[in-house]
Amino acid sequence: MIEETSLPPIQEFGGCRCGAARYEVDVTEAHTLACHCRDCQTHLGSPFSVFFIVPKNKFRWISKPKGAVSFSDTAVRQFCKSCGTYLKWVGTNSKNDAEVNVMTLDNPSILTINEEIFTRTRMPWVQPIEGAIQHFAGRH
Ligand SMILES: [Zn+2]
Ligand SMILES: [Zn+2]
Repeated sequence: MIEETSLPPIQEFGGCRCGAARYEVDVTEAHTLACHCRDCQTHLGSPFSVFFIVPKNKFRWISKPKGAVSFSDTAVRQFCKSCGTYLKWVGTNSKNDAEVNVMTLDNPSILTINEEIFTRTRMPWVQPIEGAIQHFAGRH
């Protein structure tokens, strides 16, 4: 697969905890979601995941993580085999988008959350995020 190598000037960088996996991204058009599904909760060991979606050509690996795991036939989750950080979700039906773990950005606070999904399994002690569109299940 050919990966886009040129990016617009507005760039952010990110990577895993140990630094083995690194990427660059243009987040100008990023759409950001919090996901409360059980796959995210158990995979991250966290009440929810936060990820941003950008067009595929706005994201480029500088050094790609070696770990990959699937919990269903709908997606592959890429993670760093050295430190375990979950970096990117690659959906079999979303070939045109990159879905990236917000917390792996070097400056994650630059993004705000637009939507929350799978709120049916949101922890009772986690409040809805003000201004974020709420979805009981997925976005559909
Ligand atoms: Zn790592
Ligand atoms: Zn999820």
